[in-house]
Amino acid sequence: MQSFDQVVNETLIMKKLEELYSGKAKSVFSTDQEDRYILHFRDDTSAFDGKKVEQLDRKGMVNNVFNGFIMQRLEEAGIATHFERLLSPQEALVKRLDMMPIECVVRNIAAGSICRRLGITEGIDLEPPTFELFLKNDDLGDPMINEYHIASFGWANVDDVARARELTFAVNEVLKPLFLEADMLLVDYKLEFGLYQGEVVLGDEFTPDGCRLWDVNTREKLDKDRFRQDLGNVIESYEQVGRRLGIDFDAAVGALPAV
Ligand code: 5GP
Repeated sequence: MQSFDQVVNETLIMKKLEELYSGKAKSVFSTDQEDRYILHFRDDTSAFDGKKVEQLDRKGMVNNVFNGFIMQRLEEAGIATHFERLLSPQEALVKRLDMMPIECVVRNIAAGSICRRLGITEGIDLEPPTFELFLKNDDLGDPMINEYHIASFGWANVDDVARARELTFAVNEVLKPLFLEADMLLVDYKLEFGLYQGEVVLGDEFTPDGCRLWDVNTREKLDKDRFRQDLGNVIESYEQVGRRLGIDFDAAVGALPAV
């Protein structure tokens, strides 16, 4: 018979098996549990559909810890996510989702592609916040799509997309005040969803790579636009965002194995 300690150890130890997918900033590995994956946050940073790529020291660790913090806040607010726990400074254990090939974007303030597409001045408040869908396809530059495209081409189930939109707005209700309390404006963000046991669940990541965050007083950019626009101090800004939220990066990784 197994001892209690053996059972606990077996549930905590996770075997990393083959690399299934390598994205622009993360790699996904299978594990010895069929419904669990390991996300490895690399130090790579990319923009413009992979045309600009750089390695930034500490980036994998900062984004992994940041993502874990945000996913936990969302779980506490009743939003189901794939996040299970941090495994090492650059790795997290997640549920295996059947991902929809779609990006859901909410915008509270005009910035980025909406300004270029619609001729809008950056910084205008969007009241109510607006919602956009994009197809995940680097070769096509992630084109904007609508629900009818998704239905006609069978990219996802229409009800699941409606649920994803509802959850994307629910995330805004949790994170907008969270960032504002730390003197930051959540300008916009991109989320990706998948199915786990029939339920639409938040997947991928929430980090300064996939959202825009401005200082509430100076409107200084604290997110990936620092990399896109060559503003410098990219990871320093990500860490500053985390510290403002109360994240202690050194303490968070201190107890983890240094894999
Ligand atoms: P935009 O459409 O203005 O380029 O992006 C809107 C928001 O979604 C921004 O916060 C941006 O960082 C995020 N976003 C859109 N597409 C991607 C993507 O392919 N990767 C990442 N990391 N973020 C994205």
